[in-house]
Formats: sequence, structure tokens, C-alpha cells
Amino acid sequence: MPEPEAIRGLSASPGRASGPLFTVEEEPQPWSPDVEAATSEAVAAVAERVARQLEDLAGDRRDRAPDAAAILEAQALMARDPALQAAVDESLAAGRGAPAAIAEATESYATRLEQTEDAYLAARAADVREVGRLLLAGLTGRPPSRLAGLAEPSVVLARELTPADTLAAEPGSIVAFVTESGGTTSHVAIVARELGIPAVVGAAGALAAARRAAATGALVDGTAGTVSWLGPEELLKEDSGAGRELVALDLDAAPVPIMANAGSVAAVRAAADLRLQGVGLFRTEFLFLSRPDPPGEEEQAETYEVACALMAPYPVVVRTLDAGSDKRLPYLPVAGEPNPALGRRGVRLWLANEGLRDPQVRALARTAAGHENLWVMVPMVGASEEMREVRDLFEDAGRRRGRTPPLGMMVELPATAVALDRFGGLIDFVSIGTNDLVQYALGADRELEWPPYLSEFNPGALRLIAEAVRSAHRVDVKVGVCGELAGRPEGAVFLVGLGVDSLSLGAASAGPVVRALSRTGVEGCREAARAALEAGSAEEALALLS
Ligand code: PEP
Ligand code: MG
Repeated sequence: MPEPEAIRGLSASPGRASGPLFTVEEEPQPWSPDVEAATSEAVAAVAERVARQLEDLAGDRRDRAPDAAAILEAQALMARDPALQAAVDESLAAGRGAPAAIAEATESYATRLEQTEDAYLAARAADVREVGRLLLAGLTGRPPSRLAGLAEPSVVLARELTPADTLAAEPGSIVAFVTESGGTTSHVAIVARELGIPAVVGAAGALAAARRAAATGALVDGTAGTVSWLGPEELLKEDSGAGRELVALDLDAAPVPIMANAGSVAAVRAAADLRLQGVGLFRTEFLFLSRPDPPGEEEQAETYEVACALMAPYPVVVRTLDAGSDKRLPYLPVAGEPNPALGRRGVRLWLANEGLRDPQVRALARTAAGHENLWVMVPMVGASEEMREVRDLFEDAGRRRGRTPPLGMMVELPATAVALDRFGGLIDFVSIGTNDLVQYALGADRELEWPPYLSEFNPGALRLIAEAVRSAHRVDVKVGVCGELAGRPEGAVFLVGLGVDSLSLGAASAGPVVRALSRTGVEGCREAARAALEAGSAEEALALLS
């Protein structure tokens, strides 16, 4: 028998896992006569049912994946939108069948959103299309999640997956994701990285290839971005299970603490299960995005307290809200910024908006009083004046509530990176956010694809990072790194070689990073870093660090 073809896609979440295949079927076509003949009242009743199912699902899963739960709530609002129902009614009155009427109404709604100049609204177009699919599935009596029938831990294979699909699955029931569509920032990629599940997206032709290979299982390499098909016997031989290689991690082999980046309580739990040594970056923006109003003190405190309890005694570094630029809040329009990446974002936006700032300060002060392992970190700091203001706020709240947590800041602006000694007395620690630091140093938008010479491995970018480490250590401030560079084995080798004090990365990247560090050893890392700083090009630096 010829070797079954392997499929190549994009690496959306690293790690290897295998298991039986669960293929998500597309809606059957043509539609049944009952569905075709559904009336306006029937469509309205289905919309109400779908909205309620989405809200229930969001409520059950808010703890595991709050950002995705918020998307479901927004979709519930869209399903109930009277303008959508009116558009469906218009098409029905013109003699269309219900499937065509729903498709037309949602498509024209989505296209209108895409044509607005508002990036946040434009990004909601995918949610409207998803609502259309859910209404059609609802007319046939099916549940919102197409993974409702998932009975055993499986590799989920689909053309595309939505939050409604992925969130309905029980924890542990998905060992890997493979989708034909989607990029590395699609919903499924974000959920997979948060939960430490390997994922390959953009794997064009995967469904047909699995059929041709008569596959019953698959081996997914989320790091390489490949999928190979398995028959029943090969499946038995494979060691299945997401995260198994991570569970076997020998963290003692790493010369510095390996911490996790997390955006939800679920991700903190996954990191604690892997025995990672703290959360080096808790991105609170996921609590604030994709919802009609911001979370209050109570809701925030609950999240921070659970995260600290899960990780104790290791630190949980909670970052104050980092909104603005590409992270737009629907309830906080920022007008008149020709270049939002250089506009009011991070600490600037936070300090200027008491309504967002004060409940977060109170929630953090309250958490600090009961949890010694809470640390607080501020994004996008460009001047000591900003940090002074932040420190005053937390010290004031700490005096009233009993304790001021250790306060640190992210190093994301080049001017800050080279002048950390100017923040003496204001900061207890720093963490280098290489994603933003490099975008601002090279003037290269982080959302776009660039060749390696405009990446973190650019000679000037490497020297800037090295200078940040030196300038913090000169004033005895501990330096962590939480940008994506820390999660790349070559990056981790470089950073440990520079003498950083901790690395914080997506849980799924821990395995490859720890292995690279223990293979290289601290002296090897130092030598590699020294050589990389002298390299004439990014390509040469990467080769030296590999
Ligand atoms: C960074 O900029 O490197 C960082 C970790 O922050 P974020 O990716 O959330 O902007
Ligand atoms: Mg950043």
C-alpha cells in the first residue's frame, strides 16, 4: 500500500498528539422540504432558541475560556437582532426558502460590517456568518456545537471551527485540532494555545486527504504544522493524549524559572497542571474584550483570586488592562487617531480612564491582601512619570486594603529598554515584551508577515534586548521575558545566555524550550548569545542559536 500523504498547514499551537479522528460534518445539502418551507415565525423561534443555547454555553464555560464565552454572548445578541429578523422576513416575502433567506440576510449584514472603517466591527462579520450557520443548524434541530457527539479524546478535523463548537466539548476530550481554513490568529488557534492543545490550521485539502487515506486516526504535529493519517493498528501503537510530552517535562533541567502566559483561568489551570513555575503574564484584556461593558471589581477580583490560588506559591503577574491599538473596546471608542499603534494604548489609555482603571486597581489590591503571590505589571510604559502615577495609585489602595503587591512594568518601547536605570525606586521587576519592542524598534507591524531580517533576530533588535537586560541588572531589577521570543527554542537560548531571570511562554511551548535549554547548558547559552550579538544578519544569528 502506498504511504498515505501527510498534510502541511500552519503551526497554530505547538506540541504533538495523536488519537482517533472526529470529523466535523458540513451541513447536509439540499435542505429538507420542512426546512425550505420554514415560516418567519419558525425562524424567529429558532433564533430565540439558538440565542438561549449560546448564553447557556457561555455561562457554563466562562471560567474555562472567558474570551470565547464573551464571543458567544455577542453572537446571542446578534441572533436576537430585530434588523436581522426583518431582513430574513423580507427575503421570505420575496419567495425565497428559509435557508436562502437566512444566508442572504446574514451575508448582507456581514458585508456591511466588513465595509465599515471600524476594525472591531469588521472583525464581527465572522460572528454574523456563524450566527447564520447556527440558525440553519437550529432549523434542522441540531445543537449549536458540532462537537456535541464527541465521546472519547479525539483529534478534531473540520473545515473550520467556531467558539460554539470548541467550547461545548468537555475538557480533555480534544487532543488536537486540524482545520482547513483559518490563520494563526483565528479563534481556534487562540483557544488551542490557551488550553495547550496542539493545532494545525490552514491545512487545505485535509478532509479529502483523510477520506482518501481511509484514516481512523491522526498524528498532529502542531510545532511543524503537519498531520499524518493513521489506520486502526498504527493508532493503537501511538501514544495518544494532548500535553503528555509536557507532563513529562523536567523543569529542573531549565536554568531559569519557566512560567506561563495566560489569558484565562483555564490557561492558568493548564499551566499549574504542567507544574510551570508561575504565570509571568496574565493578559487581563481578555476579560474586557468582546462584551458590551467592562467587568466590575467583583468579577475581576474573582478571576485574579482563582488564578493566584491555582498557582500558589508561584507568582501570578497580572498585567493591568492593555487596550487600544488592535485591542479595541466597544464601550471605549478612541477617536481621531491616525495611527492607533502610536496612539492611546496600554498604560496611557488606562490612566486616562478612571472608569476602567479604578475597579481594576481595587480588584488587584483586594487580591493582593489575600494572596502573597500576586504581582502587578503595567504595559507600554514610556516614561517614569507614568510609573510614578501607577505606583501612587497602588500604594494608596494598598494602604487602605492592607498590602501593595510587587509592581513591575513591561519593556515594550525602545526608549524604555535603554533607560531602565531611570525607573529606580519605582519598579520591583520588569518583563520584556519582545512582540511590541521589536515592532516599535523596527517599525514593522507585528500583525504582518515579515522576513527574518525584520524579526527579533535582526542584529539591532538583539542588541536592544541585550541592552534592556543590562540596564535593568545595573539597578538590581530582575528581568523576565514574556514576548513570543521566549517561547522559541533559539530565543530562549539567547535570553538565558544574556542572563534573564525567567521566561514566560505559552504552555504548549514549554517542552521544546526546556529541551533546548537543558541540551545547551548555561555556558552554551552564554556562548551562543555572545556570538549572536556579533552576527552580521538575522539568518546568521538564528543559525548560531539553533
Ligand atoms: C509583547 O508585546 O511582547 C507582549 C507580551 O504583550 P502583547 O503580546 O500582549 O502585546
Ligand atoms: Mg505588548
